[in-house]
Amino acid sequence: MTDRYQSFVSSPVGKLLVKNLGLPNPVRLDRWRDGAPLVDGTVVTGGTGRLTVAVEDSLDGFGVAHTTDLGEQDRAKALVFDASGLTDPAQLVALQEFFTPLMRRLDSCPHLVVLGTPPEELSGNARIAQRALEGFTRSLGKEVGRGGTSQLVYVSEGAESRISSTLAFLVSPKSAYVSGQVVRIGTTGLGVDVETDWRRPLEGKVALVTGASRGIGEQIARVLHRDGARVVGLDVPQAASELQALARELDGDHLVLDITAPDAPQRIAHHLRTEHGGVDVVVHNAGITRDKKLANMDAARWDSVIAVNLSAPERITRELLSSGTVNANGRIIGVASIAGIAGNVGQTNYAASKAGVIGLVDSLKGELTDAITVNAVAPGFIVTQMTAAVPFATREVGQRLNAMSQGGLPVDVAETIAWYADPASSAVNGNVVRVCGQMMLGA
Ligand code: NAD
Repeated sequence: MTDRYQSFVSSPVGKLLVKNLGLPNPVRLDRWRDGAPLVDGTVVTGGTGRLTVAVEDSLDGFGVAHTTDLGEQDRAKALVFDASGLTDPAQLVALQEFFTPLMRRLDSCPHLVVLGTPPEELSGNARIAQRALEGFTRSLGKEVGRGGTSQLVYVSEGAESRISSTLAFLVSPKSAYVSGQVVRIGTTGLGVDVETDWRRPLEGKVALVTGASRGIGEQIARVLHRDGARVVGLDVPQAASELQALARELDGDHLVLDITAPDAPQRIAHHLRTEHGGVDVVVHNAGITRDKKLANMDAARWDSVIAVNLSAPERITRELLSSGTVNANGRIIGVASIAGIAGNVGQTNYAASKAGVIGLVDSLKGELTDAITVNAVAPGFIVTQMTAAVPFATREVGQRLNAMSQGGLPVDVAETIAWYADPASSAVNGNVVRVCGQMMLGA
């Protein structure tokens, strides 16, 4: 599914019209390709907080070139600023001093990252200064342009050595369509500091992906397989042949069932235990829409959406956890939606189900043991068969209303899920990261 508008604006006539009429100008985003370096260029680091050493160690570990002093003729592919040392609002000027001289020296599709301390762990002026970082990074995302991204990572005291998998994701093209996000790295699973090979972090791991036969689910299966996992794809009987073909291609396994069936949680748990000795990564991707304004909503539309998108993930998660099927340092990953954050006309059922997925993350994040984490992605407009069904005009608006003026690809959601899934992400718990190109809706 090509973006016809994007192809048009790349043509000579299109370029002229974009320039003269101020039309949106989507840049072709860099996306990571298997075999490529993590960052194809130089990372400039700055700041003087407690995370500086961890940043440098992580970048060295990925084999990424970094400097605090960019050569006069050089350009930066990523900027990482450690703001955790800012204890007073007056010191925020350090952001301006670091970023301003570098803003005109960025390569295409640059990735900008600010690191701080969670404000809720601080008091007084330090708390104010750290909270201010959020407005800075979100604005930076909206003005960086050229396909660039900007994020804030709050790292709890004591979690300094646990930033590597998050940094790998955020400074690389793996986060091409993620921008304006606030990520939290905490102390969950302290003591389970696993180091992974960033090229094959899921080696030896088993991953369940629901709704894997097509769209975003298929891409999640492919990316987790690329990262070394043995993937168990699940889908409904109507999608069995596509699912089987994918499982064969990925040398994985498949499970044909409807996740809303009363015995689905038990059947899934039994299969994972007997065939695979348990599961390390559970991705609740299967989802449906049955749109109607509430005035015209019938019970069948309401019930089916809640059943597939919310009740099934909730029931399956409970069963997998209570039966001990999820291995230590396991991952539960939900697929919410921007609609669950901002709301959408005709989607009261869908938005309720997707906000409920965020509720599932909130309710489980403090309950889990054995370094098992729970997180969700909230995709914006992702180009799939689901969004191909959206009427043309709505689809066009949906695609352009973000800082990147384009829809995302299934691989963008998949890469975000692969970051959560990484065994080195044991401190990434309770996050809901939007994969939406920093959509204007719902901040
Ligand atoms: P899709 O319709 O292309 O794929 C959904 C998959 O889920 C299909 O393979 C389908 O057979 C499967 N599925 C549906 N009901 C099932 C059931 N009862 N049991 C087992 N499998 C079932 O959709 P997509 O665009 O790839 O979306 C994937 C996920 O991402 C969904 O949860 C969706 O809500 C979410 N999402 C998508 C977008 C987007 O822009 N495409 C945006 C936000 C969120």
